[in-house]
Amino acid sequence: MKYENEISKRRTFAIISHPDAGKTTLTEKFLLFGGAIQTAGAVKSNKIKKHATSDFMEIERQRGISVATSVMTFEYRGVLINLLDTPGHKDFAEDTYRTLTAVDSVVLVIDGVKGVEEQTRKLMEVCRMRDTPVIVFVNKMDRDGKNRFDLLEEIEKELRIQLHPMTWPINSGKDFKGVYNIDAHSLLLFSPNTKADADGLSINDLKDGLLDEKLGERDAAQLREDVELVEGVHGTLDVSAYLAGQVAPVFFGSAINNFGVKEMLDTFIRIAPSPVARETTLRQVDAQEDKFSGFIFKIHANLDPKHRDRIAFLRVCSGKFERNKYYHHVRLDKDVRFSNPYSFLAREKSVIEDAYSGDVVGLFDTGNFKIGDTLTEGDDFYFTGIPSFSPEIFKEVVNKDPMKTKQLEKGLLQLTDEGVAQLFTQFGGNKKIIGCVGELQFEVIQYRLLHEYGASVTFNAMPFYKACWLTSDQPAKLQDFMRFRQQNIAADKDDQPVYLAQSEWFLNTEISNNPEVQFHFTSEIQR
Ligand code: GDP
Repeated sequence: MKYENEISKRRTFAIISHPDAGKTTLTEKFLLFGGAIQTAGAVKSNKIKKHATSDFMEIERQRGISVATSVMTFEYRGVLINLLDTPGHKDFAEDTYRTLTAVDSVVLVIDGVKGVEEQTRKLMEVCRMRDTPVIVFVNKMDRDGKNRFDLLEEIEKELRIQLHPMTWPINSGKDFKGVYNIDAHSLLLFSPNTKADADGLSINDLKDGLLDEKLGERDAAQLREDVELVEGVHGTLDVSAYLAGQVAPVFFGSAINNFGVKEMLDTFIRIAPSPVARETTLRQVDAQEDKFSGFIFKIHANLDPKHRDRIAFLRVCSGKFERNKYYHHVRLDKDVRFSNPYSFLAREKSVIEDAYSGDVVGLFDTGNFKIGDTLTEGDDFYFTGIPSFSPEIFKEVVNKDPMKTKQLEKGLLQLTDEGVAQLFTQFGGNKKIIGCVGELQFEVIQYRLLHEYGASVTFNAMPFYKACWLTSDQPAKLQDFMRFRQQNIAADKDDQPVYLAQSEWFLNTEISNNPEVQFHFTSEIQR
C-alpha cells in the first residue's frame, strides 16, 4: 500500500445528462470551485451545434477541441478530482457509455422542468449494470418546474433507483426562494447569479422562527410539512447503500446561478468513492496494490491527414504509472513504454512523470491499442466490464471498388478497434454490417475509409433495431436457432454469434420461444 495517500485523495467521476439539462454549466461551476478556471464561460461546450450535423468535419473539429477537456483535473479542499467529460451529442453516446467504465461514480443532472429524458434513462441503465454510485442534481429550479414530489417519484420509477433528498427546494421558478439542507439544518437563500454559494443560515430545528422570517409564514409552513414528510420516509443517508449504487442522494439547485452546487460538491468529496477495486479475468485488482495496471477506455483519432496520431486514454487501476517505464501489453504480449504520456489539467495538456490509480493518462498511439486493452506490470489479466452495447442503426457496407477490398477490410478493422462503430458479418454469407448509435458515424466512417485507406463505400440500410449476443448451455439448440434464423444472425468481430432483431416484438417473441438460448444486451469486448 505504498500509494495509499495518493489514492485515497482521488475521486474520478463523470457528469452525465440528457443534452441541455445543464452538464456543461455544472462542469464549469465545479471548475470554478476547484480554481482550475477563473472566469465563467471558460469551458467550451462540447455540444455539437445542430446546424453542423450535415458537416461532420466541423463536428470532428469540435470533438478535437474537446479532447483537451476529456479529463479535467482539479483540487478542492485537498481532494484531487478527475472529472471525465462525455460527449453531448447523442450520436456519440457509445463514447459516453465507455467513459462510464472508467469512473468510480457519477453526478446525474436532471432538468427540473423536463424531468427524466431519453438519454437519462439509457445512461442510468449503464450505471446500474456496474452499480455505479450516483448523485442526482435537479437543475433549473429557477424555472417553473414539476411538483417536486411528483418529480422524485418519476425519477425513482423511471430510473429504478431509490432517492434520498439531501436538500429540499422552497418553490421554483419566480417564487424560488432557496433550499433547505436537511442534514446540516441550514437554509440557503436563493439570489440569482451569485459568484459562489454563501454558507447556509443555521436553523436550530424546523420550528425555528428564522424560517418564517426569511421565507414568510406560508412557505415556512410548507417547508416544515415537506421536510417532516421527507425525513419520515428517508431518515439519514445510508452511505454504504449509495456506494453500492442502491440509493442516490439528491440535490436541488440552479447551475447557471451557481446555486446549490457547493452543497453538492461538499457532499461529493465526503461520500464519493476513491478509486475502487476492479474485476479482471484472473482476480479482483485493488486500487491500493503496489503494481501498476490499467486499461484503455477510449481512443481518439486525429482526422487531420497531416497528423495521423491517435490518443489512447488509459485509466490507471492500481499502483503507479511512470513515464519511460516498460509495461506489459497483455493482448499483444509485448512490452511497451511511453516517452510522452500526458495528463489534462483543465484545458492544458502536459507531459507527466507519473500517475496513480484513479488518474487518466493520454498515450500517443500508432495503432497498438484497441478499446479494452490492458497494460500491467507483468501480470497476465484483462480488465472485464468494458462491454459493447447494442448499436441502434445498422447498415450493410457496399464496396464500390473491388480492387480495394484489402484496404477496406483493414480500414473496417481498425476503425472498429477504435470503437467508432461495431462490425458484424452475416451468418452464412459475408455481408459486412456496421452498427452505430447515430447517423453521423456512418459519415465519419465513409470519409475515413476513403481518406485514410483509399476505400470507397456506400451503405444500404438494414431493417434491424437491436443486436443481442447469444449464448446457450446447449450448443446444438443454439446451432438450430441460428440455422432457422439465418437472416438475422451475424458474427461480431470476435466471432461471437449475435441476433439482429427487426423490432421489439420479434425480439420478445424469440426470447419467449427459445428459453434454451440466452439473449444478452451487451458484450464484454473480447480479444
Ligand atoms: P448540457 O447540454 O447538458 O451541457 O447543457 P448546458 O450546460 O449547455 O445548458 C443548456 C442550457 O440551459 C443553456 O442555455 C444554459 O444556459 C441553460 N441552463 C443551465 N443551467 C440552468 C439553470 O440552472 N437555470 C436555467 N434557467 N437555465 C440553465
